[in-house]
Amino acid sequence: MSDKVKYLLDESRIPKAWYNIVADLPVPPPPPLHPGTLKPIGPDDLAPIFCPAIIEQEVSAERWIEIPEPVRDIYKLWRPSPLIRARRLEQALDTPAKIFFKYEGVSPAGSHKPNSSVAQAYYNQQAGIKKLTTETGAGQWGSSLAYAGALFGLDVEVYMVKVSYQQKPYRRALMETYGARCIPSPSPLTASGRAILEQSPDSTGSLGIAISEAVELAAQRDDTKYALGSVLNHVLLHQTIIGEEAMLQMADAEAQPDIVIGCAGGGSNFAGIAFPYLREKLAGRLNPKVIAVEPASCPTMTRGRYAYDFGDTGHLTPLVKMHTLGSTFIPPGFHAGGLRYHGMAPLVSHVLNLGLVEPRAYAQTECFAAAVQLARAEGIVPAPESSHAVKAAIDEALRCKAEGKAETILFCLSGHGHFDMQAYTDYFAGKLQDVPFDQQALDKALSELPQVDESAF
Ligand SMILES: *Cc1c(COP(=O)(O)O)cnc(C)c1O
Repeated sequence: MSDKVKYLLDESRIPKAWYNIVADLPVPPPPPLHPGTLKPIGPDDLAPIFCPAIIEQEVSAERWIEIPEPVRDIYKLWRPSPLIRARRLEQALDTPAKIFFKYEGVSPAGSHKPNSSVAQAYYNQQAGIKKLTTETGAGQWGSSLAYAGALFGLDVEVYMVKVSYQQKPYRRALMETYGARCIPSPSPLTASGRAILEQSPDSTGSLGIAISEAVELAAQRDDTKYALGSVLNHVLLHQTIIGEEAMLQMADAEAQPDIVIGCAGGGSNFAGIAFPYLREKLAGRLNPKVIAVEPASCPTMTRGRYAYDFGDTGHLTPLVKMHTLGSTFIPPGFHAGGLRYHGMAPLVSHVLNLGLVEPRAYAQTECFAAAVQLARAEGIVPAPESSHAVKAAIDEALRCKAEGKAETILFCLSGHGHFDMQAYTDYFAGKLQDVPFDQQALDKALSELPQVDESAF
C-alpha cells in the first residue's frame, strides 16, 4: 500500500452530500436566542445577515444535505484531499501505532476553510447578493472567502483583527490578490469599531470585535450579507466533507481509527473530521475516542463555562449555548490566531457536554516542537493551529508505545504554515513563550455573561 490514499482522477470519490449531526443527536441542541429579547429566534431573525439557503441549513435537522453540483465542481480542484499514512513519523516515534492524517492544506487558500467559503459564496450568489462582509483573525478565513468571492463574482470586504493585519502582511496580500478589500479592525467605518476606538484608541482588536463590524454592515444593506468562517451549524455541516472522505479512504487503506483528533478554534475542522465518526459511534457501529484540542492560552473547552453567550463583542449576534470564556474576554497574543476565539461551536459544545468528545489543551511551544517533528518526518509544515492536532496525535502514539498497543490514529491536518514562517523563526530563536491567560480577566468576563432563564424554553 502506498502511504498516500488518494483518487486524483476519480471524482466519484468526492462525497455527494454533507452530513448533519443534528439528525442523530440523542438530545436536541439548545436553541439560539434573540440578543434583545433573550427568547428563541426563528429563521426570520437571521434574514438580515444570511441568505435563505444558508438559514435553511442553519436550522435543518435533515441528515444528508446534497452538495450542489457547481460547489462539487469547485471542490474537484483539490478534493479528495489526501489521506496520508505518516510512516516516517511512526518510525521516528518508534511507536506500534498507525498514524494517518487528512491533509486539508492542498486547497487554494491552504486550509480547510474553502470547503465552506465556496458553498457560502455559491448560495449568496444564487440569492442575488452582491457583497459579503466577514471577519478574519489570522487571515485564513478572509483569504478563503476572498477566493470564493472571486469565483462567484461577489465583492468581499474583510475586517481583519488589527494585530494580525500588522503582523501578517502576506495574508492581506493574498486577499487583495483575489480581489477582496481588507480593513484593520477595530475600524472607524462602523459604530461597533468607533465605540471600541473611543474607549481604547490603541486596541489591537479581537475576532469578537471584527465580527460586530462585519455583521453591522451586512445588516444595513439588502444586497450585502455576512459570512462566518466557523462556529455556526451550516459551517460545520460544509466541513463534514473532510470526515466523509476520510471514511472512504480509511476503508480503502483497510484501517479504522481508534482515535480521531482535530484542533478546535471555532470548531469547524474538528467537527468536519469528527462528526461522521460520532454518527458511527452513536449508532454503535464504531467506537473511536474523539479528541478536540485547543490552546492553553484560550482554553474555551477546558476552562470556559457551558452557557449562553454572544458570538461577538458588540452583542449584535444571537446568543448561543456554548463553551465560552465570555464575549468580553480577549485572549493573549499567540501564534495560532485561528484558535483565538472566546467561544466554541454550539454543536461541538453540545457533544462535549454529552461526553462524546474529550477536550484537551496544549501550550504553544510544545505544539511547535510537534510541528517541527512532523515537518522533518513527513515534509509538511503545519499551520500553528494544526500543530495542536499534531501534538495530540504524537502524544497518543507515545502512549500506545508505552502501553504496547497498536492503535490507529487519525488526525486532521487543517492547513499548511507557509504564511506563518515568522512564528517558526521565532520558535527557533527561542523567542516564543507560553503566555498564560489572565485568570482575573477570565473571571471578570465570565461574571459578565448574560443572565438567561433556560427553564422558559
Ligand atoms: C481557522 C483555522 C483553524 C481553526 O478554525 P476551526 O473552525 O476550529 O477549524 C484551524 N486550522 C487552520 C489551518 C485554520 O485556518
